[in-house]
Amino acid sequence: MTRPIEELKALAEAGARELAGDPENGVPEANPADVIRWVSRNFDTAACAVACSMADAALPHYVAQYQPGVDVLFLDTGYHFSETYDTRNEVARRVDVHIVDVLPEQTVEEQNAEFGKDLFARDPGLCCARRKVAPLKKSLNGYELWFTGVRRDESPTRTNTPLITFDEKNGLVKVNPLAAWSFDDLLDYSRAFDVPVNPLLSQGYPSIGCQPCTRPVAEGEDPRAGRWAGSTKTECGLHT
Ligand code: SF4
Repeated sequence: MTRPIEELKALAEAGARELAGDPENGVPEANPADVIRWVSRNFDTAACAVACSMADAALPHYVAQYQPGVDVLFLDTGYHFSETYDTRNEVARRVDVHIVDVLPEQTVEEQNAEFGKDLFARDPGLCCARRKVAPLKKSLNGYELWFTGVRRDESPTRTNTPLITFDEKNGLVKVNPLAAWSFDDLLDYSRAFDVPVNPLLSQGYPSIGCQPCTRPVAEGEDPRAGRWAGSTKTECGLHT
């Protein structure tokens, strides 16, 4: 049983105020540990979920230090690289979290039968809506808060990512504790705590999505340039 929407909205606003700091007057915004501690003071572990694409597991590992056994939602689109599934299994073995595989309503074969083969090549918006956005929305039902690993340095569309906000689309609090981190911060943390990392990250894939929609990027390119390359699509719709 989750608390009423208005109560969650008020909590998100209070948290955003408390953790934003006052950078213009020399008060920095909260660091990831402060953010996750704020969540733990205000939300039960059972009310929280961590979204993880299995590009890395820094966020699940960080949250698990304060909320052991927390649910980690893995959107299993059926189109992931084998390295991503291997990382998912390693995280399940080595990190104190409970992995929840979130499946679309249709298998890839069923989708092919209804929409034709390779929907991702003809209408990636529809494919993402059916295999990511709708399943996530359904799976977030019953939680009061979700953590994401969105970082401001990932792309121009993510520059203004707040630490805490109310997610109107899904009806719960959304927390981005690593918003201020760089890609190097992520790698440093993973090395320091021996956290599983998808091997593709060091093979030219700083952003890892579904295999048919992800290509490696060149040195100096936008880290998300390899996602839906050649199309105008830049986001799957989970964070927009
Ligand atoms: S990233 Fe590509 S394959 Fe994956 S759900 Fe979106 S369009 Fe489909």
